[in-house]
Amino acid sequence: MDEKPDVTSPRELNALFQKYGLQPRRHMGQNFLIDANIVRKIVNAAEIKTGDAVIEVGPGAGALTLSMARKRARLLVIEIDRGLTRLLGDLLEPWPQVTILEQDALHVSWDKQVEQIKPGQGNIKLISNLPYKISGPFMYNLFKAKFPFSMAVLMFQKEVARRLVAGPGDPDYSTMSVLCRYYCEGKILFDVSKNVFFPRPKVGSAVLKLVPRRKDLTGKEEKLLWEIVQGAFQQRRKTILNSMDRLFDISRNRLTELLEKVPLSPAARPEELSVGEFAKLTRITYNYLNKAN
Ligand code: SAM
Repeated sequence: MDEKPDVTSPRELNALFQKYGLQPRRHMGQNFLIDANIVRKIVNAAEIKTGDAVIEVGPGAGALTLSMARKRARLLVIEIDRGLTRLLGDLLEPWPQVTILEQDALHVSWDKQVEQIKPGQGNIKLISNLPYKISGPFMYNLFKAKFPFSMAVLMFQKEVARRLVAGPGDPDYSTMSVLCRYYCEGKILFDVSKNVFFPRPKVGSAVLKLVPRRKDLTGKEEKLLWEIVQGAFQQRRKTILNSMDRLFDISRNRLTELLEKVPLSPAARPEELSVGEFAKLTRITYNYLNKAN
């Protein structure tokens, strides 16, 4: 066993922060895991094995990172805070298979990072205890990149986790839920108490597992799917016919015919539509637009 500090021990974490002149920074969403059992549960959920290629976002003081490095995973960790990357550099020195990237995870090119850690085909896992503030834009970026992972195990604020896995009829069902369902199959694995973090956050968390789904639409159709879904949920009380009418220069009669082909009632509300129905509506609309022009 290596002799690195136990960063899930509040006393040892504090001593490390003092050594590096650091303090948790609220605006960077820094709430560090101080429970070895939760760390174990997250890493086990990702089924990390020797040689796995893993990208971790926001490694912080290395609670999850150390555990995965000890399992001999090949890691690329992306951390925005310079103080923490300094600390991580020392902490992870015994594991040359860990690469630390000091960068804003909202500005990374996922294609490039995936290629860097695993050139060519291969399974890449994503793991993160995500800073709450960036979870929305972060997920949209992953979906834009077509979710290039074999699996992701991510911790979110409970409400965000629920929104991601919500289905038709749920009050939380939204643009993010439809896109998440289009790109992935998601499941909330377990809730995490506020008490296992330092400092203690205001909100509870949940760990979510996502695996990619087969995508049914072409790249161009996917662009249209985003437009239709975002347009529909911008005014979720409107009927799908009215949303489509606002989005496209197509007569209401023709739109009604397109909806009936799905088949969908023109009076349906966006919150009632499944991802399959949104996808079918997209393909039918795309074909119509490209025949008409
Ligand atoms: N993984 C550690 C743990 O579980 O103890 C820390 C989790 S803490 C909730 C979030 C981490 O993400 C912090 O280390 C923070 O500095 C980092 N972070 C915040 N915004 C970031 C961004 N835009 N890009 C990369 N890292 C970010």
